[in-house]
Amino acid sequence: MNHPASYQGRRVVVLGLARSGVSVAKVFHQFGAEVVVNDKKDRELCPEADELTALGISVLCGSHPPDLITEDTALLIKNPGIPYSSPPVQQAAELGVEIITEVEAAYWLSPAPIIGITGSNGKTTTTSWLGELLSAAGLKPIVAGNIGRPLCEAAMESTEDQWIVAELSSFQLKGTNSFRPHIALLLNIAETHLDYHGDMDDYVNSKVKLFDNQTEDDIAIINWDDPECRAISEWLIAQQLPFSLYETLETGVFIDPPYERDNYSLESSEDDGTAVARQIVYRQADGVQITILPVNELGIPGRHNAANALAAIAASLAAGAAPERLIKPLREFEAVEHRLEFVREVNGVKYYNDSKATNPVATIMSIHSLAAPIVLVAGGLDRGSDYMELAPIFRERLKGLVTLGETREKLAHVAELAGLAKVEIVEPSEDAESVLQQAVKQASALAEPGDIVLLSPACASWDMFASYEQRGRIFKDSAHTL
Ligand code: ADP
Repeated sequence: MNHPASYQGRRVVVLGLARSGVSVAKVFHQFGAEVVVNDKKDRELCPEADELTALGISVLCGSHPPDLITEDTALLIKNPGIPYSSPPVQQAAELGVEIITEVEAAYWLSPAPIIGITGSNGKTTTTSWLGELLSAAGLKPIVAGNIGRPLCEAAMESTEDQWIVAELSSFQLKGTNSFRPHIALLLNIAETHLDYHGDMDDYVNSKVKLFDNQTEDDIAIINWDDPECRAISEWLIAQQLPFSLYETLETGVFIDPPYERDNYSLESSEDDGTAVARQIVYRQADGVQITILPVNELGIPGRHNAANALAAIAASLAAGAAPERLIKPLREFEAVEHRLEFVREVNGVKYYNDSKATNPVATIMSIHSLAAPIVLVAGGLDRGSDYMELAPIFRERLKGLVTLGETREKLAHVAELAGLAKVEIVEPSEDAESVLQQAVKQASALAEPGDIVLLSPACASWDMFASYEQRGRIFKDSAHTL
């Protein structure tokens, strides 16, 4: 395995600024590498550049210079979002320069063992929940990665007795070589990000890199209910600790009695006490079964969040947490902003912001988590996927749909096929904020007391907004000014 110190005096190119680029550039500079940072954006749009130039790091903004990747370039660290078709990345590949993302460098650096969390949906929720579980268990986690704080920064400050809890995207994992998390969590695999990865195989292969370097001393936590994850588990070398909502496992973390697949009716009736009390249990390798807590006591609703809890519990136990220390943070956990976040109630209608639901699976899970009739606000960036999988839930659970963004016509079509009577399209305008405000107004007009207005777009935000956070904030502001 490498270490940043082994690049002393050698040319290291960091492609893409942003927080992780800044962090990794500083680390390699500190260890004596000749760091060059490049970002296609103009200098005025790269406020981070000043901090680096002040340290004596060369920062080139505005384009990718043709001579950026030279024969003597020892390493290219690329921002995870930059595609492999980008000219400097291609040049580096042609010259045989090692290409990594910041995650790999963080692994080289970190004295603390790493818990890596990936999956198509639920990463941020599971990562932050796991951080709270480990804290409560006294295991000193540092939560970082895709969730916000750069991994290199976390790795630099960590000590051997801590845990780095790393949220990892498929983009980040694609740029790893020797990365080996001691505990690896694969939450689920849904069809997403195909515009970047090209096809499903590339996407799955990137996710699977999480396990590539694990040995028998490591632990793999796998979603037993997801057929793709189960198929992957067959060739894993690490010890496995599966989790399941639907099956009683020989060893692992599961629900007892299990949920029934595709039957969500019990979920809502649990509130009135008529349903079976389902417990979250951990069955150890020796067959001893430990009850953790009733699933309906979890701090956040929804079966998908129960799955996230099972994964976080499994990882905490694998890290050595005492089961009884997990109960309080399991009960007290609150929704992360933009993830099925309750906004307010007005005229008997509850407003929820689920702006982070950027693919159909996420939207389906969120709709299942809410018991009342729903007026859905959805639509956004068109990634070319087929939204037909939304038709059954639209038919069963929606009272109305207000749709906006690039996918508005497609979603309206699905809703019409599903037989929805109330479907409204908000036409685009230069002023994206007013389009969403208008959508919220129309949704509130369709909703009646007892209903829910839910922003759960099933699409990314970049056709209209800078980020899903911006979209979520505008939704919340609009709901607050109704
Ligand atoms: P990620 O970081 O992977 O995008 P988040 O925890 O931010 O995941 O959740 C994003 C959205 O995905 C949530 O708003 C919710 O609708 C949905 N979601 C969360 N967990 C799951 C899960 N385990 N399975 C399916 N969908 C989920």
